[in-house]
Amino acid sequence: MGKSIFFVTLISIIGRQLPSFLLLFLSAQGLAAGLGSYPHLVVADSLSSPRNGVRVTYLGTNGYQFEFKGHALLVDPYFSRVDLLSVALGSRIQPNTERINDGLRHLATKADAILVTHGHFDHLMDVPAVMAKTRARLIASASSVDLAKRAGALSGEAVKPGDVRRIGPWKIRVLAATHDRLFGKVPFDRPPSQALAKAGPPQRAADWICGEPLAFLIEVNGQRIYIDSGGTLAQLPPNESGSRRMDLAILGMALPDSRARLAAALARLQPRYVLPSHQDDFFRPLSAGFQFGPLTDFPFVQRDSAQQNRSRLILLDYFRPWTLPAAVNPKSQTPNPKKD
Ligand SMILES: [Zn+2]
Repeated sequence: MGKSIFFVTLISIIGRQLPSFLLLFLSAQGLAAGLGSYPHLVVADSLSSPRNGVRVTYLGTNGYQFEFKGHALLVDPYFSRVDLLSVALGSRIQPNTERINDGLRHLATKADAILVTHGHFDHLMDVPAVMAKTRARLIASASSVDLAKRAGALSGEAVKPGDVRRIGPWKIRVLAATHDRLFGKVPFDRPPSQALAKAGPPQRAADWICGEPLAFLIEVNGQRIYIDSGGTLAQLPPNESGSRRMDLAILGMALPDSRARLAAALARLQPRYVLPSHQDDFFRPLSAGFQFGPLTDFPFVQRDSAQQNRSRLILLDYFRPWTLPAAVNPKSQTPNPKKD
């Protein structure tokens, strides 16, 4: 999230000039780049890819499916892709069943768990529906579990930084995180106690409050994946420079705050692969294809990643799985060769 509140604010500033503002935004969207501008960075499985590794599928926004030996794990699955105007105007929003079903057709029929980084609608709104379809359990902050239950989830497990969960082949470590600010504030960030006072189901974008942001360290197949949804310099990922390298770092990159911490985050995680996340225009339906969001700055991400020359920068397209290659020699910390 984040962009939405930006536009809410813009719209309130612009007031009666709303139609021309929208026109401006729509024309900017038309000019936005897709993945076609970076073909050398986009990775995907081919027929010769190994079948026994950890497979990563990008679902758009900050959504992922990880698969290993017949098990699946989801993070922030969001398929409804509510349009900008509904968010900006504070209209009622709800999960789009058809889009959710279209998205789920690409995924495993059953999932072990859904991890949620925070409560914003573009991370949590579809989760009750996805739980019902995949029989996955929910692992999220207390306020996100509360929101999900009010939106129809039958269960949910509240976790906090420091907690560890072992589910199937997955070892999941819950880490502290922060959320990007916009104009100095985390969007939709009412304290949970205040939001709880209004106990009905969440109806508008602002009802899906951020709550306590989380990051996750997922260990599977002897490999380690770090994932967050963005963040600030106030809370960096764990320092891994003294230990084995992270195999994959999925870092939210929607707004300037998360870009400002990119170099420091990479220095700590020392990932073999870095996958910038949450940088597509999530107000467009998934069927319209990947396009960078108007507030993301991928050339900046590219420059900063290039300076951390031991990490290979990659991009994933929607629903095109990629298997995380095994480290050449995980113990020796050999820098990863810049090829597949
Ligand atoms: Zn958010």
